[in-house]
This record gives sequence, structure tokens and C-alpha cells, in this order.
Amino acid sequence: MIEKRNVCAFCGRSPGMDNIVTLVDGAFAAICNVCVGHVASVLIEQGILQVDGTAPIDPTQENEQEDGAEVSLSMDKLPKPDDIKGTLDEYIIGQDNAKRRLAVAVYNHYKRIMQKGGDDIEIEKSNIIMVGPTGTGKTLLARTIAKVLDVPFTIVDATVLTEAGYVGEDIESLLTRLLQVANYNVEAAERGIVFIDEIDKIARKGDNPSITRDVSGEGVQQGLLKLLEGTVVNVPPQGGRKHPDQKMIQVNTKNILFICGGAFDGIERKIARRLNTRVIGYAAQRTTLTVDRDSLLQYISPIDLKAFGLIPEIIGRLPVLTYLLPLDRAALRKILTEPRNAITKQYVKLFAMDDICLRFDDAVYEYIVDKAMEFHLGARGLRAIVEAIMIDAMYGMPSSGEKTLHVTLEYAKEKLEQSEEINYLKSA
Ligand code: ADP
Repeated sequence: MIEKRNVCAFCGRSPGMDNIVTLVDGAFAAICNVCVGHVASVLIEQGILQVDGTAPIDPTQENEQEDGAEVSLSMDKLPKPDDIKGTLDEYIIGQDNAKRRLAVAVYNHYKRIMQKGGDDIEIEKSNIIMVGPTGTGKTLLARTIAKVLDVPFTIVDATVLTEAGYVGEDIESLLTRLLQVANYNVEAAERGIVFIDEIDKIARKGDNPSITRDVSGEGVQQGLLKLLEGTVVNVPPQGGRKHPDQKMIQVNTKNILFICGGAFDGIERKIARRLNTRVIGYAAQRTTLTVDRDSLLQYISPIDLKAFGLIPEIIGRLPVLTYLLPLDRAALRKILTEPRNAITKQYVKLFAMDDICLRFDDAVYEYIVDKAMEFHLGARGLRAIVEAIMIDAMYGMPSSGEKTLHVTLEYAKEKLEQSEEINYLKSA
């Protein structure tokens, strides 16, 4: 009879030692759970195993189209700008200018993809740049647009591109993610949308290139040019530099829509300066020009992006410029309850899954918005505040058997005041 092995052949330890709880027996040796973990991480690193434990789809093989990655475009199927805006309205509060500009840009973009040759007119790309404070809905807009069109969508952070030493490779791996969400369907990826967040962080530090030599930011901008315009890129299917042997996949970016977003902190000053100059220098007698100082962003022009440090070539490849305004109290109040995916609706659904009927008093909504304003947390803070109020109930109610929760103002106040998060929220 073969004796059950009690020692891991890899590390020599037995169950009970360190974190070892079990051994998996093989024909010739046994391996412990800790070593299995190490082996798995090596395989994941090498791209042979996915994090969920399955083998990855071989990106070099032709594969069947999966749901979500399918792209079949035709003029009659394409939603019209008005329809696109209508859907955006369901998810995003306010930001009308951005919605209209995006809807038209996206519509034109897909018309461009479908354009037939034969004449001299070639519709150019309509990549988009959105300027607006953080947490005002830039990512949400881009994500929702991709959902409307049912095309692969990915978000990349421009700051990551700066941090890497070897810029070219990282910029290519930006497309790796798009390929991955398209299940390696190159054709689908080539019509996808890439959202490049924090584009302002790769601005060069001054308007004048001879004053500052901020190589990293400008280098990344240069690297992005071709990609934005349309080029064939060799994309590492597993990303990064870790797998030198991987077969590259060629992706043409000609029909990929790039949407860039950034807060461009301080750009209002540049806008104000430009507007003042114009008022004084151009037509001093017309100083009656009324400028809404609280929302200077609405006057943004490509000149301001240049003054901020984007190179003219990049600005030229992002022809659609739009802005998002800071969210006021009324907008925050709506965000809490009105969008299709509104935060409070999500909690009602969470509780309903435990057969618990959750109800909020209107005064609670007002209180949550007050706190978000007080803590200067914007829309992002709303969720954190609701979470802090609801955590006790979410913890206890699934096992307590209670079937209703009526959140009153007193309840909300009490829960938020005693929550551990409150100090963190206050200081955020
Ligand atoms: P940004 O990209 O501008 O920094 P996000 O789009 O990531 O901001 O917004 C953060 C979160 O705040 C979103 O997930 C959403 O819940 C909420 N939010 C922000 N702006 C809006 C808006 N205008 N309408 C609805 N929800 C919003």
C-alpha cells in the first residue's frame, strides 16, 4: 500500500506548518497549497493561466465572436445624435454641452467608418477632449457612449504612460486592454472606444518649450500622436514587457475613437486671461461683454489647452473640445435618485435581493447632499456617505429576518455620525 505523503516536494514543509493546510498528491510527489499558489502566480505572469483559473483564449487563433464584442454597423442601426443624447440623459445629470458634442462626434465617427470611397472627400476622425473637474461625469459619459454603441471600451490613465521609462511600449499596451475586452477580436477592437483619463497630467509645464524641458510629458504626447490619428500598431496581447516571446497582434487605430478627459486644474485662469486680453486689446469700448466668471470653462478654446501645455499636434488630433461644469447642489440631489443607475436605486436592489423593502425619506436625500457639499466630496462622495449610513443594516439584516427598513433622517444622522468613515470623509 502506498503511504499518504506528508511533505511537500517543493518546500519540504508539512500541513500545520506556516500556512500549509493541505497537500495535493501526485504520482511521484505531493505539493502543498502554498506552493500551488506560487506556481499559479508564475503561470499567470507568463500568460498561461488567467486570474480566474482558466486558460486564456489564445489570441493568435481565430475565435468565435462573443457577446458584447460584436460590431455590426449600418446607417439604419446607428442611433441618431438625439437618441444618443437621450440615452446619456438617462444616466448622466446635466452636462448638456458635453452630451450634445459627444453625441454628434460619435455619430460622425461611425458615419466616417461607414463612408464609401469614390470621391475626394474623406471625413476625418473626431476624437474628443473633455475638460472638467474630477467627479463630474467624464468617465461616465465615455462609458455610457460605449454602452449605447455596444463597442469594446477601455479606460487608460495617461499618468501611467508617463511613469514608464520606455514610452513606446506602454502606449501600445494601451491597446492590449482594448483587445482583451474585445475577447481578442481584432475587428471589434478596431472600432472600439479608448478613454484616456488625466490627459492634463502629460501636459508640458509651460507654454514655451524652450523654457522647460519637460521631456516625459511631451514625449508621451508625441507617442500618442500617431495612435490618435490612425496607425497600425504591434500590440502585445498579454501586455507589457514581461513576455518577450509573445506573438504581436496588429491593430489599426484608424477607426478607434479616442476620448480624452482631464481636470486641467487652473485652466480657468488661462481662459480668464485670454478673455481679458481680448476685451482690452481688441475692442476696449465693448467692455460690456459679460463673462460668467463662475463657469469660465464654457469659454474654453484650443488656445487654452496649448497654454496649459498640450502640444499643438495633439490638440489638432482632438478636434472636438467640450467641457463639464462643477456639479451644484441641485445636480448632486438629482444624481442621488434620478439616473437609471442611481446610487439609492442600487441599494434598494441590494436589499430587495434579501427580500427586504428599503425606503428612504426625502429628508435623508437632502441630508446626504448637504454632507457631500460640506465635505467637498462631489458626486463621488455621495456613494461613500450612503455606504456609511447603510453599513450596519447591510451587515445585520440579511440574518436578522427583518423585512423592511425605513431610513429616516434621525436614522441616517445617527449612523453617519457614529460611522468610522466620517472622519475620513471629513478630511478627504
Ligand atoms: P470624472 O471622470 O469626471 O472624474 P466620473 O465620471 O468617474 O468622474 O464620476 C464619478 C462618479 O460620480 C460616477 O460613477 C457617477 O456615479 C457620479 N457622477 C459624476 N457626475 C455625474 C453626473 N453628471 N451624473 C450622474 N452621475 C454622476
